[in-house]
Amino acid sequence: MYPNILRHPGPTPIPKKVELAMTENMISHRTEEFVRLYKDATERIKSVFGTKQDILLLPSGGTAALEAAVVNTVSPGEEIVVITVGAFGDYFVSICEKYGLHVHKLEKNWGEACTKEELVEFLKPLSNIKAVFATYNETSTGILNPVKQLAEAVHEHSNALFIIDGVSGIGGAPAEMDEWGIDILVTGSQKAMMLPPGLALIAVNEKAWKVIEDNSSTSYYLNLLSYREWAAKSMTPNTPAISLIMGLSAVSDLIEEEGGFSKTIERHEVMKNMVRESMKALSIELLTSDEYASPTITAIRTPEGLNLAAYLGHLKKKYHLDFAGGLGPLQGKIFRFGHMGYCFPSDVLQAVSLMEAGLQDFSYEFEPGAGVKAAQDVFLSSLKKVAYVK
Ligand code: PLP
Repeated sequence: MYPNILRHPGPTPIPKKVELAMTENMISHRTEEFVRLYKDATERIKSVFGTKQDILLLPSGGTAALEAAVVNTVSPGEEIVVITVGAFGDYFVSICEKYGLHVHKLEKNWGEACTKEELVEFLKPLSNIKAVFATYNETSTGILNPVKQLAEAVHEHSNALFIIDGVSGIGGAPAEMDEWGIDILVTGSQKAMMLPPGLALIAVNEKAWKVIEDNSSTSYYLNLLSYREWAAKSMTPNTPAISLIMGLSAVSDLIEEEGGFSKTIERHEVMKNMVRESMKALSIELLTSDEYASPTITAIRTPEGLNLAAYLGHLKKKYHLDFAGGLGPLQGKIFRFGHMGYCFPSDVLQAVSLMEAGLQDFSYEFEPGAGVKAAQDVFLSSLKKVAYVK
């Protein structure tokens, strides 16, 4: 009866328009109709990646596209760098290790970003690095790595490819793949892209294609050359996630309705500030500094003396508000407030208000209404520049 108020870092709520688009009659992927759909869906979503390159569509979760980015570009024994600032950086390390790569791990404390200077220092003694892998938006901590600056470090100090996991960032955070010098950019459908799980998107530039063409190690299903060959005909090598591609076209309609992707980015920025200012007003600590704070997910430290598991369970049971807990070493120490994709300032106001109601139920000492007021102030002052379409 009651809706689940899903404030997770993915999967996230699906807009009605996207849902309806996905219920269109099924079509075959070897038809003119599919060619039209594929062209429309992949052309229009390029603005979200900031690229002129083709967007390849894999019928998979984000992990398969990360794996594709690894297996197509580097071979066992080769040296690579993985920048890890949390659980998903570690995940990238695991994928690379599984493929027998020699991994140099640039590891930061969870809750911190990696800076250009740190990467430059790290790269200095390494002369044979084939690729640098990094997470753009670290979902476990709410850090947005300064990928533009990191790309400069990679290209100024090595010949390596710069390969980015954009899952949980792309669709809500700025991305200028071509301008920044990202060689491969990957994302998944179920986070800021406003789609259900099951579609991975991957863009590859000319420099990376050259490396891929010369690379002898690859997988059959994740062979990007085969994806490129079929993309030239606006098709995929095997059966694609057709319904999700129909949904992807509708996502571009929504972005256009909002006034273009720059407006979508502004909305995410406003929501980020609403969440952060409301927590500050409640004297509840945030895990990350404002400087590298993610526009799509905020990690909030467990309020002093609160039983976090009981509190999150209570919010879900009584108010249908569903936050995500912490991962790995942050389990019990933080919870994560997702504000990505089909999420609006009104949704943030609702979640902050319910959070406060839950705190009162737990007799937590705070000034009731202070969080809502702070979020509202950010929202109202943003109204002049952001058009909110729902
Ligand atoms: N990378 C990041 C940053 C993620 O947040 C996730 C999922 O949460 C993944 C990779 C893995 O994606 P998937 O679960 O779609 O395979």
